[in-house]
Amino acid sequence: MEILHVSAECYPVAKVGGLADVVGSLPKYQNKIGHHAQVVMPMYRTIFLQENQWDVVHKGAISFGGSNLEFTVIKERSDALGFNLYCIDIYGLLDREKIYGYDDDNQRFLAFQIAVVEWISKWQQKLDVVHVHDYHAGLIPFFMRHYYDYKNLSKIRTLLTIHNAQYQGWMDWSFTKFFPSWDNWKAGLIEWNSQINPLAAAIKCADKVNTVSPTYMKELMYNANGLEPLFEYEKGKCSGIINGIDYEVWNPETDPLISDNFNIDSIKAKQKNKFNLCKDFGFDVELPLIIFIGRLVGEKAADLLAEAISRAFEETDKKFNFLMLGSGEVFIEQQLKNINERWFGYYHSRFEYNERLSHQMYAGADFLLMPSRVEPCGLNQLYSLRYGTIPIVRRTGGLNDTVVDVGDNGYGICFNNATIDDIVYSVHRAIHLYQNKPMVENVRKKMMTINNSWEKSAQDYIELYQSIYR
Ligand code: ADP
Repeated sequence: MEILHVSAECYPVAKVGGLADVVGSLPKYQNKIGHHAQVVMPMYRTIFLQENQWDVVHKGAISFGGSNLEFTVIKERSDALGFNLYCIDIYGLLDREKIYGYDDDNQRFLAFQIAVVEWISKWQQKLDVVHVHDYHAGLIPFFMRHYYDYKNLSKIRTLLTIHNAQYQGWMDWSFTKFFPSWDNWKAGLIEWNSQINPLAAAIKCADKVNTVSPTYMKELMYNANGLEPLFEYEKGKCSGIINGIDYEVWNPETDPLISDNFNIDSIKAKQKNKFNLCKDFGFDVELPLIIFIGRLVGEKAADLLAEAISRAFEETDKKFNFLMLGSGEVFIEQQLKNINERWFGYYHSRFEYNERLSHQMYAGADFLLMPSRVEPCGLNQLYSLRYGTIPIVRRTGGLNDTVVDVGDNGYGICFNNATIDDIVYSVHRAIHLYQNKPMVENVRKKMMTINNSWEKSAQDYIELYQSIYR
């Protein structure tokens, strides 16, 4: 099949979270199984852009709020990513250092989507599926299906993958001035709760909708940041496919970012990674090392961490170390900074995005904590399973689908509620488990043999596309 993925993020070009990891790996695996998947994304001013060679493949213009906006489509020359990568360059709007966080983000992603549709309407490439990811590409199925100017795209099938339904891209109606040749009577297709809602528009207009885990899809029926009735209404076209991980990037045997490579038979080398990590942060290597990696936001229950860690230190008389890597809400960072001094030598927090350190942490830690309130799939627990680091997770979304408690003959520690009590209790369980070395060894071996690569899920996506044509 001929597939075009449209996304705001793609690893290693530009990444904020799991969306980038998925869009940077799923197309590669789709190509490996005999299909032709390509990616288009905005052209940000990233290191990847500067370090690679590009060819201009298209120049066009869109009418945008009464003015003529020129855009250029560039293609990465080497195809080293395992798929063709196209970036849309719109001078002054998209070519910025950050992906999100600007006051005019709505205009930026609107212009991006219109340029994508304009480009593919002129493109010689025949497409079977346009696969849009999250709200940043959510208006594309609407533009393709319901615009006279893009009539030649109306037969191409569309799939929306929801990586996170909390963010929906709400806009007020004044934004329709940016839309190409706007037909008022179609307003209902893009409206939710009296606003333009790009995620809702995609749920209404795409042929099929999926989330990145089956449990998350079930949860959206009653917890979807206002879209619950829409999911209930459209449930006939909704399903869940669990994310895979890129086994070439996330492989402890070959990972160039970690100090000592290891595999299931040389798991003692994992200990050397722990040793180096503990040395860097002044920790006692004999104690269990628990880590947290992620965005410091309410969805990840990061606001509970400072108090939960402090209580666990008090109750266990500092029987573990905790290393935290993340960035996000200022008040959460402050809470986590405030406990630095009190638990000096046992706790350290780093407030930055650091890919290298994250790999070293997955490789060197004993446990990874994910107390998430909402977790559409979660990739951290999949990476930690691959690196022999036991996940401690709340039973929600993809965490529920990928981690089985050691008490049920599994390879993780699971709890039900995003509360301080449940987190502290789980830390007690982790410390207890850590003392049973043969059991830890056994659990590690079990988790490192689980296959969470993209092979199966990439095929599931192909079958989902094909089901649209049946
Ligand atoms: P989400 O997309 O909700 O942020 P996921 O678990 O799906 O969460 O994906 C998170 C990805 O981002 C993982 O690859 C994780 O390692 C990475 N990540 C998150 N925060 C950081 C950070 N501060 N430094 C390095 N990597 C990070």
